[in-house]
Amino acid sequence: MLIDYEAAFYVVMFGSVVVAFWCEALFPIDSSKLNLLHLGRNFSIWFVAFLSADYVAGYYLVDIQSIILQQPFGIFFWFPLPTDWWLVVIGVLIVDISDYFYHRLSHRSSFLWRFHLVHHTDTTLDVSTSLRTHPLEMVLSNFWKIGIALVLGVPIWILGFRELLTFPFLFLQHANIALPSKFEKLLSYLIVTPSVHKLHHSVIHREHDRNFGEGLIFWDKLLGSFKEPESVRPAQYGIEHYQGEKYQTIGGMLMTPFRLNGESYEESMGQP
Ligand SMILES: [Zn+2]
Ligand SMILES: [Zn+2]
Repeated sequence: MLIDYEAAFYVVMFGSVVVAFWCEALFPIDSSKLNLLHLGRNFSIWFVAFLSADYVAGYYLVDIQSIILQQPFGIFFWFPLPTDWWLVVIGVLIVDISDYFYHRLSHRSSFLWRFHLVHHTDTTLDVSTSLRTHPLEMVLSNFWKIGIALVLGVPIWILGFRELLTFPFLFLQHANIALPSKFEKLLSYLIVTPSVHKLHHSVIHREHDRNFGEGLIFWDKLLGSFKEPESVRPAQYGIEHYQGEKYQTIGGMLMTPFRLNGESYEESMGQP
């Protein structure tokens, strides 16, 4: 399937950011005033992560794609599909559930958690939180995705295609918005909605230890990790011992995985 992934990536990503900003202005939960410092910091950490991780991974993607196309094993080698449409549907489902497992593992492994923690230390949720990722988390999650693609034989372009599909929802999930309740209910039959994901950012362990899905909502429901949100947002965002200003600066975010704060990473995960 021919797709100019790089051009589509920028169009869909920036289009999604603009739509999410517009929704924040229309349906804000908290103050609709833009917090430019918060936005600037989260966009900056993403920029560092994107340059250092996505670009490096992208450099090898063409080589990996050619290995996958020639490899004599993998799910699509053993079970050839009749059309590209089947490949898209099954490939997207595989990538989506593998992201679910990676996210769930990031809340179980203290090594992965210390990097994922940076996404959770945001105490104010808005569009920019979607981009708040430690560079090493981006590297590790890219390795995971490419590893899944290599082992199962999922073409690399499916990874990109699924990323394009989930971008709009990813930005909406973190945006400072309360969607009209009937619309959110309708969306919640298929995808992870803003209030479902916001519960995952609650400061309470038993709440941030739920709702790991990033695209489709089924995996949490099938695998016992779903919690129905009782309101559009939890009472407080963040992680209990990581609320200070020093975890919000660009340098602070970069150093968070290497700086314990009076408790082990297991304790901050809710596993004393
Ligand atoms: Zn998480
Ligand atoms: Zn999130």
